[in-house]
Amino acid sequence: MFRSIRWRIAVSYILLILVVMFGLVVYLSDLVRKDHLANLRSQLTAEAQLMADALASAPAWDEPDGDLDPVAHRYAEQLSARVTLIGVDGTVLGESHEDRRQMDNHLYRPEVQQALATGQGSSIRFSRTVGYEMMYVAVPVTAGERVMGIARVALPLRQIEANVARLRGTILVAMLFTALGATLLALHIAERTARPVRRLTDVVQRMAAGDLSARLLPTTRDEVGTLTRSLNQMADRLRKTVNTLIEERGRLAAVLDNMADGVVITDSEGCVRLINPAALRLLGIEAETSLDRSLAQVIRDHNIIGLWQQCFEQGEEQVAPVEMDRRGTFLQVIVTPLRDAETGACLVILQDLTRVRQLETVRRDFISNISHELRTPLASLKALVDTLRDGALEDPPAAQRFLDRMEVEVDALTQMVQELLELARIESGQVPLQLALVAVADIVLPPVERLRPQAERAGLRLTIDLSPDLPPILADAQRMQQVLTNLVHNAIKFTPADGQIRVSSFRLRVSSDGEVQPETLNLKPEMLPPGEWVLIAVQDTGVGIPADDIPRIFERFYKADRARSGGGTGLGLAIAKHIVQAHGGRIWAESPSITLRASVEGKGSTFYVALPVP
Ligand code: ADP
Repeated sequence: MFRSIRWRIAVSYILLILVVMFGLVVYLSDLVRKDHLANLRSQLTAEAQLMADALASAPAWDEPDGDLDPVAHRYAEQLSARVTLIGVDGTVLGESHEDRRQMDNHLYRPEVQQALATGQGSSIRFSRTVGYEMMYVAVPVTAGERVMGIARVALPLRQIEANVARLRGTILVAMLFTALGATLLALHIAERTARPVRRLTDVVQRMAAGDLSARLLPTTRDEVGTLTRSLNQMADRLRKTVNTLIEERGRLAAVLDNMADGVVITDSEGCVRLINPAALRLLGIEAETSLDRSLAQVIRDHNIIGLWQQCFEQGEEQVAPVEMDRRGTFLQVIVTPLRDAETGACLVILQDLTRVRQLETVRRDFISNISHELRTPLASLKALVDTLRDGALEDPPAAQRFLDRMEVEVDALTQMVQELLELARIESGQVPLQLALVAVADIVLPPVERLRPQAERAGLRLTIDLSPDLPPILADAQRMQQVLTNLVHNAIKFTPADGQIRVSSFRLRVSSDGEVQPETLNLKPEMLPPGEWVLIAVQDTGVGIPADDIPRIFERFYKADRARSGGGTGLGLAIAKHIVQAHGGRIWAESPSITLRASVEGKGSTFYVALPVP
């Protein structure tokens, strides 16, 4: 209770009042006492003086053993006081209340000495003769110039003390009542002073609990009012700052959530404090199992842990490429100490370089492939030229054969250069498509019919199966025929005699949840986005394609089986892929895993081209 400001103020007031009252009592009773004493002193002085004047002629003063007791008694009665008459030598000559013969010499009593010196003396002291405190007043008894003796009047102070005590009691009672009133007043004042402070405290407590909208209207113009206004201003500023911080945090979180690089922040204990979605994706982990766990538990890759360890120990940035074991992901890992944060905190950045590395591989392969493709015809040309120069020119029929073979090589080179150029032009978008609504049959039939004689020569059965409900599609007919030519030509090339080639086309619907209609097609959902499609399939019973090669056969110069490619450039499928993609379509291949199922009947390859229905 006494911890509250209200009670502290009240108790202080009450104590102050009590102290002041006590001081007043002490001061007043002392003042009254002094006043009483002064009055008594002057009264006794006057009485002593009257008595001295009256007794100046008494003969007993001069007698060595003069007796003034009767006189003393008489005066004592009249004055209701003790009267002592003392000779100049200090001998007590008359005493009203005691036996003077028992009394010692009074010359050196302070009031006597004072009276002899100044003509009047007084003293307050405890009388051993009577046994209580008394006031003594003495005056000299003079006859003319001669001092005859000393007349002393004394009164006990009991009466005065009783008066003062009574007065003190009255003051005390008054003080108690005043103190009671003052206490009530003090409580009221304390309550009024404490109330705004209490309200302020409530508001501050609400703010501390997070309610930054809590405000208090200033009701006074005093310090509390100023404090209330300052508090409101502070809350306004705090709210703005917090809002700004929340906004900035949101922006930062959006950046972290959407950035392609993975970001992981660890604290000085090596625990993961922050991890963004890109990092979760790159590391193949879940957010719930990552936060607040040690980095070693979250990232189970000793290379990254090692880098983090080095950065932690040396306090320096560490950069290294890391190939993730399982998933073939290739990362550039940068671990940097976070200097502004707590010591030991580290920032781990994971940059996905898988695609960059794939492109680099493709580029390297492309250069090595093109060198290889050029070297063979050039070497054979060089050999033919050398042979001609070495004498074959003299033999016209042989020279003619050599020239024919040279022409074949040059034609092959020319075709390759043309295909390369075409691929480059399609890739850079320099070949605009002549789009028109065309029937699927107009795309499929001309190339198949053109290649039919070739298929028959190779001993293959070529069948066509077009679904009757095929809608027209928006396509550059010439380009799409080029694609079909390439696919059927490949099928002929890679299918041994007595095989079959089937070109079919039907309509296809992929729903938004990945369901494919008709279901007979064993399509993986990721092959096609939801929508209406026309699917053209070129199926053969040929050599098939090894599973490892399937993803790569659409790359430039890629040949799964060089021995059988029959002088192909390896560019056909790359060109086909670009043409189909330019139509907004997809192209892919399927082949039973021939490495495992070499003897299974029906092996071969199927190439699919899907074009969107407009
Ligand atoms: P190429 O001019 O060599 O035929 P492509 O780009 O058309 O070039 O084909 C690339 C490679 O894909 C071929 O070398 C072959 O290994 C493989 N390939 C294409 N079509 C088939 C198919 N129908 N059967 C088996 N392999 C095929």
